Amino acid sequence: MAAQTEESDCAREQTKAEQDVDQVRQRAARDQQRLDSGAITSPKDLENLQHEIASLAKRQGDLEDIVLEVMERRESAQERVAELTERVGAVQGKVDDATARRDAAFEEIDGEVASVTKEREVIAAAVPADLLKLYDKLRQQQGGVGAARLYQRTCQGCRQELAITELSEIRAAAPNTVVRCENCRRILVRTAESGL
Ligand SMILES: [Zn+2]
Repeated sequence: MAAQTEESDCAREQTKAEQDVDQVRQRAARDQQRLDSGAITSPKDLENLQHEIASLAKRQGDLEDIVLEVMERRESAQERVAELTERVGAVQGKVDDATARRDAAFEEIDGEVASVTKEREVIAAAVPADLLKLYDKLRQQQGGVGAARLYQRTCQGCRQELAITELSEIRAAAPNTVVRCENCRRILVRTAESGL
C-alpha cells in the first residue's frame, strides 16, 4: 500500500512537473515569435525579451531535470510495487494452502467425532443406567476420565498404587461389582494385568 501510494504520488508529481515544463516552453515560444515578428523595435525591449528567452531556456532545463528525477523515483517505486505484489501473491498462496489443509483436517476430525460419538452411544446403551450416571458424574469431576484401568496394582487415573487392604477387597469382589479407587474415586477396570 505504501509503495503504491508512493508510486501514485510520483505520478502526480511527474504530471505537475511536465505541465510546468510545457508552460515555460509555450511562453518561450511566444516570446520567440514576438522577437521574430520584428514588431518590437526598441533596443531596450529587444534586450529584455532576449534576456527573458534565455532565462526561460534555463528554467526549462531545470524543470526537465526535475521531470527526469521524478521519473526515476517513479520507476523504482513501480519496481517495488511489482516486487511486493509478487510477494503478496506468494504469501497468499501459502495462506490458501494452509486454509485448505486446515479445512481438510476439520473435516477429518468432524468425521472422527461422529464415528466415536456413535460408538459411544452403542456402548453406553449396554451399560446399566445407574453405572452410566456414576461414570458421567465422575468424568465431570475428574477432568474427563471417569474410569481407569487397574494396572499392576496402580490406578491409571491418579497413578497411585493401591494399598494392600484395598487390593484384597478388590480381589474378593465379584467380577460384576463396581470397584473404585480409594484415592481418586474413579471406577477401576480390572484386567488380567491388574496384579490382583
Ligand atoms: Zn485413582
